[in-house]
Amino acid sequence: FIELHNLTKQFGPTTVVSPLNLAVERGEFLSVLGPSGCGKTTTLRMIAGFEAPSGGSIKIDGNDITQTPPSKRKIGIVFQSYALFPNMSVAQNIGYGLRIGKLSKQAIEQRVNEMLAIIHMQEFANRYPHQLSGGQQQRVALARALAIRPQVLLLDEPLSALDAKIRVSLRQDIRAIQRELGITAIYVTHDQEEALSLSDRVLIMQKGEVEQLGTPAEIYNNPKTSFVAHFVGTLN
Ligand code: ATP
Repeated sequence: FIELHNLTKQFGPTTVVSPLNLAVERGEFLSVLGPSGCGKTTTLRMIAGFEAPSGGSIKIDGNDITQTPPSKRKIGIVFQSYALFPNMSVAQNIGYGLRIGKLSKQAIEQRVNEMLAIIHMQEFANRYPHQLSGGQQQRVALARALAIRPQVLLLDEPLSALDAKIRVSLRQDIRAIQRELGITAIYVTHDQEEALSLSDRVLIMQKGEVEQLGTPAEIYNNPKTSFVAHFVGTLN
């Protein structure tokens, strides 16, 4: 459903993503795991269109979107830090991407209410971001990303600023919502346990390349390289 073909990215002389080939299935939850600086965020940014690849192509549902501007790609993103608009209410934040589109006021209101129900925050519609906990803010960010009914959901370490307890419950909620909507998701994390417990498949990246791609069981039981074994903690 998402196909990366020989995707590369250089910043000046530095290669950050080397030819990367990857196919993500429709409805799949794929985690991308790897050490700091291995190119995870850059890969997501290329899929979203915020960063132009140095080479290669990106297809979604069979369409080549490599040259498509970000606003025309149907992609929802949740970032590490709460990127909510501080001067907008929860409902306005969730509806933000919809106001750019052609929906009527009523249709927007209905969609926002659906999203509030999905994240179980109906009673928070009129609150402002500073009146919410970190976990609630990330729920709103998720609802905003999903409100536009994207083809793909990209999550870039959405839980890393949160307390350990909230992380576990929120990651389960994210996974449940992803399953319920049947949306294809790529989840970037540097947390091994998170990736292995949550995903259909895990992509281990090192230095801009695929080190191993497999189900959590395959990665854990049959690490292909000592890097993978060390990284997922089967060897110390
Ligand atoms: P982390 O887990 O720390 O977020 P990452 O795997 O997401 O790391 P990237 O953010 O993709 O890694 O960065 C990969 C490399 O590219 C890093 O060495 C980074 O310094 C470099 N890099 C990223 N963006 C730019 C840029 N705009 N200009 C130059 N170098 C960049």
